[in-house]
Amino acid sequence: MRALMLLGDKQLELTEIDPPPPPASGEVQVRVKAVALNYLDVWGYRGMAFAKRKMPLVVGVEASGEIAAVGSGVTGFTPGQGVVMYGALTCGTCKACREGRDNLCENVGGIMGFHIDGFARDLINLPARLVVPVPAGVSLADAACAPIGFATVQHMLFDNAKLEPGETVLVHAGGSGIGTAAILMAKQIGCTVITTVGDDAKAEKAKALGADHVINYKTDRFEGVTRKLTQKKGVDVVFEHVGADTFNGSLLCLKRGGRLVTCGATSGPSITLNLMQLFQQQYRIIGSFGATMRNIAQSLDKMAAGLKPVIDTEVPLAEFERGLDRLAGRQVFGKVVVTF
Ligand SMILES: [Zn+2]
Repeated sequence: MRALMLLGDKQLELTEIDPPPPPASGEVQVRVKAVALNYLDVWGYRGMAFAKRKMPLVVGVEASGEIAAVGSGVTGFTPGQGVVMYGALTCGTCKACREGRDNLCENVGGIMGFHIDGFARDLINLPARLVVPVPAGVSLADAACAPIGFATVQHMLFDNAKLEPGETVLVHAGGSGIGTAAILMAKQIGCTVITTVGDDAKAEKAKALGADHVINYKTDRFEGVTRKLTQKKGVDVVFEHVGADTFNGSLLCLKRGGRLVTCGATSGPSITLNLMQLFQQQYRIIGSFGATMRNIAQSLDKMAAGLKPVIDTEVPLAEFERGLDRLAGRQVFGKVVVTF
């Protein structure tokens, strides 16, 4: 069977490896059908000095597939059924796991496709507890965007930022995979959405998705425009993932007592923070990483109800690197999905 292996920094190779044995007790075997790309793939491909990982490594952090075989003791799955997979090898037994806070697992074995072998291969055996059924009517290309893309946003906006209907939210990089998902999810519950994009073509697309106000951050200062749009009050929630370039500006966009939730730092990880501003304005700054199993099911339910993820490009497995280039090149609007 095929597997896309990372041999070293920026060295990807599509190779033949032995297929896995039949699934053990408690496991299912999944035939992978689609892998959605994320910035994690870009970081993994480029190499991160601080990330402890095995090499060579099967890449692919977010995926969907079909059940190929079911191990003994597993109920609720049948061959041919569409599924998505959780992206980290959690223990399933620690306090966090037992409480459904999977992304805070105390004994996590690593992120699939980043620290340990991932999903860019034809077949994979997994504990059935890490697999979520895809509801009827959701394509496997769309479903591939649930475990990280949609679920991360679900976790950020609703579990962490507690976004409420009628609130105003600033979504950074509205053309990114998670930016598009954030616009869709916030509009679905009746929020006012302000979003930033880097060019006018993306601005049109963001408006078409439902964003109420779109700011081209290359031609306008988003802090000034956001304050103007909110009559100097500021927004309730900022959805951050850009990092160094925008973080302090994002704080300036918040109303007193506002919430900033962040899951990324694509422009750089370090900032200087004004603590007086933090406590006097009573900001809440919330770090968010990954999602829970429940968030994945919620995401798939939203897709089944009509909230389709925005897919920019689909590429075949052999063109995974081209997909990464497209993602990293900032021309992308929505997700890049690799199909098998
Ligand atoms: Zn655990």
